Amino acid sequence: TPSILWLRQDLRLQDQPALVAAAAEGAVIPVYVLDDETPRKWRMGGASRWWLHHSLAALAKALAAKGSRLILRRGRTAEVLAALADETGAATIHANRHHEPWWVEAEEALGDRLCRHDGNHLAPLREIVTGSGGQYRVYSAFWRALSQRMPPADPLPVPRQIPAPAHWPKSDRLADWDLLPTKPDWSNGFADWEPGEVTALRRADEFVDEVVDYEARRDLPDVEGTSRLSPHLHFGEIGPRTLWHTLDGARNAEKFRKEMAWRDFAASLLIALPDYGDTNGRPAFDAMKWRRSPSDLKAWQQGRTGYPIVDAGMRQLWTTGWMHNRVRMITASFLIKHLLIDWREGERWFWDTLVDADYGNNSVNWQWVAGTGVDSNMWGRIMAPLVQSEKFDAAGYIREWVPELRDLGDADIHDPVFRPKDYPDKIIGHREARERALAAGRALR
Ligand code: FAD
Repeated sequence: TPSILWLRQDLRLQDQPALVAAAAEGAVIPVYVLDDETPRKWRMGGASRWWLHHSLAALAKALAAKGSRLILRRGRTAEVLAALADETGAATIHANRHHEPWWVEAEEALGDRLCRHDGNHLAPLREIVTGSGGQYRVYSAFWRALSQRMPPADPLPVPRQIPAPAHWPKSDRLADWDLLPTKPDWSNGFADWEPGEVTALRRADEFVDEVVDYEARRDLPDVEGTSRLSPHLHFGEIGPRTLWHTLDGARNAEKFRKEMAWRDFAASLLIALPDYGDTNGRPAFDAMKWRRSPSDLKAWQQGRTGYPIVDAGMRQLWTTGWMHNRVRMITASFLIKHLLIDWREGERWFWDTLVDADYGNNSVNWQWVAGTGVDSNMWGRIMAPLVQSEKFDAAGYIREWVPELRDLGDADIHDPVFRPKDYPDKIIGHREARERALAAGRALR
């Protein structure tokens, strides 16, 4: 009897424990289920769908080269998979563990039929626990525990052939899923991305020569100092163990590996706090008097706040589906502290617009910046956008993303005194915003 290989955010053949286990048992039926029901409000956002489309196309090709196929089905995962198992006579469903609450829900609904494997993190996260057996709440302690287990296991090789079943079940056509935007098509600026395992592995190889400068350059939005592997990692086109070992022997890889571990920390936190995307880590913040201002929210989303670094970041996000990490922090802090808008509004926007939108990473980082998280208590840390912009040398970055300001010199561009007609005034003054935010924080105590 064949077994089912259930693929989700692990769209690769290399270092694919569920695939290796399934292939060892006999015929394999690889399946991807597009499920817009189980995740409820966390159904996949627009930019992620664009990525998914291309990633599935790449995976289908890779499977075909191994004598296999990718079966596409749509609907509530647990029901779709149970029906597919009945239809094909499959006894077992193999899958790699994921920690998003909707995936845990689907996994539990599948019961004994499901055989779960670990392979999407540097170590099995259920084993990285405190002395009393719970998940770590703070990154530094998590990293200490995780690094005891490093290096990670060697990545698993791609099976030479993937045994095919005698009969293939029917598959949807990818094109019928309408994952790509049409009216309007906002994806022109996504052209530099190339989803799929081949590109992910190639990018990791290229990064071996770049990682030496990572620590020095990672905070500068104007240079390509980071790996840009985040969407590949989110969709599991490269496994973190593969990435780790690709850097074996590279000089200065420690800082980068520590950043990779943030991804594991975030997923680990979800085991303890599955609702982290919706719920303040610190309940005191439930009483926060957030402002409701659709027009301010829109100005932020569209990159028209009058703060060049913020506007540059928001436009990079909209245009390319990605934003530099330093600028993610600045724009997030601006929404939460300067505009006093609930962090969940920003998190939703990122969810819809990022190609690397990831429930764990997104919620942990938003809560960290907000100071509402279990791992931070820094409502009073209010990033000054103009200072940040100068400190991290964002002039070139602003010129690229805010063409209205292109002609301004380095001295003026962070905070232009004379504004071109088509560039807005500051939505709120920095000092005024800061005082309002601090007062809102004091009101909580
Ligand atoms: P690199 O610096 O090359 O890092 C390599 C990898 O390590 C990343 O691809 C990512 O998988 C991991 N990583 C690095 N920094 C972090 C971090 N702070 N938290 C978690 N993982 C990290 N990252 C996402 O993958 N998805 C998100 O939805 C997301 N939302 C964010 C929201 C906010 C408000 C902030 C401040 C950060 C968010 N991040 C998110 C984290 C970080 O900005 C991105 O992972 C990073 O910018 C991706 O670019 P890179 O691959 O070049 O990073």
